[in-house]
Amino acid sequence: MPTKDLISVVVPCFNEQEVLPATHARLAAVMQAMEGFDYEIVYVDDGSRDETGEMLRQLQASDGHVRVLFLSRNFGHQMASTAGLDAAEGDAVVLIDADLQDPPELIPEMVARWKEGYDVVYGQRRRREGETAFKLFTAKVFYRLFHRLAAIDMPLDTGDFRLMDRRVVQAVRRLRERDRFLRGMVSWMGFRQTAVLYRRAPRAAGQSKYPVWKMLRFALDGIFSFSVLPLRLATVLGAGVLGAATVALLYALVAWVSTGQWVGGGAALVMAMLLLGGVQLLCLGVIGEYVGRIYGEAKQRPLYLLRERLGFPEQRVAGADVPARSGYQDAA
Ligand code: UDP
Ligand code: MG
Repeated sequence: MPTKDLISVVVPCFNEQEVLPATHARLAAVMQAMEGFDYEIVYVDDGSRDETGEMLRQLQASDGHVRVLFLSRNFGHQMASTAGLDAAEGDAVVLIDADLQDPPELIPEMVARWKEGYDVVYGQRRRREGETAFKLFTAKVFYRLFHRLAAIDMPLDTGDFRLMDRRVVQAVRRLRERDRFLRGMVSWMGFRQTAVLYRRAPRAAGQSKYPVWKMLRFALDGIFSFSVLPLRLATVLGAGVLGAATVALLYALVAWVSTGQWVGGGAALVMAMLLLGGVQLLCLGVIGEYVGRIYGEAKQRPLYLLRERLGFPEQRVAGADVPARSGYQDAA
């Protein structure tokens, strides 16, 4: 008898006590109803400071499909997702937010597309309800900008809600970069990808853990890790300023020859200085962004640390296919 496919669902959680019981109820209902598949739900407690950890312990005690990873502190959504992907053992792995903004009911459709032969099935947002106009606008601008700047073709309006075949998950495990932008990384990898459309619901309960500054930093991570165009900006600006200065100098020379008068004007001098200073600082800043990231990578710290693993079958060494410098060994 052929063994059943195992589907892993990875759920990063940070202070989600308000919504967690509802999330688990809906997830478990959907997964139980899927015939012909085994499943595991891997919750990652990303250093929650509320009752989330305790709730996860109780869920694990009462439901044999539940596994829990406790990170040693808050490492952020992308690292928590990474930890979950490292530990998930499924033939296919679904990554989903804990706040029910991504409907679990979409999972059977994703699995069906996977069974048709697709390696990545990502959720594409048709509509987003209950988001502020500001978030909708910034998200739109970002995805268009990213599309222009980055050398990869990332589908518009997708988040991290997606199903990945085991081979894709293994590939993700080999990308140990620190400034993680999972959805971009998965697009970069290729394989056969397809979309399922859905409406992004409002958060079921609790608060967004992405304040504006975190969103901005995340957007910058996306752009800087996938594009060197900002570096080229320095060249373009430098050429522009040089051109302007040359024109001004020619003008002054012509005026000198024709009238015998050298151009005066402390104001012009100050303007030129400010302009040049501004351009130089901007370029230094851009270079600094990349140098800072190189420094971060050079330290080769583990991406996250585990405090505890709960409910995982012990016989299999999870993450055995992760390269040595990943930090996984320290974690396990
Ligand atoms: N999350 C996390 N660590 C963090 C922040 C968020 O694991 O530091 C989780 C959070 O619990 C949720 C998901 O990442 O499951 C998405 O976060 P959120 O809903 O706050 O982001 P938004 O949907 O507002 O962009
Ligand atoms: Mg959310």
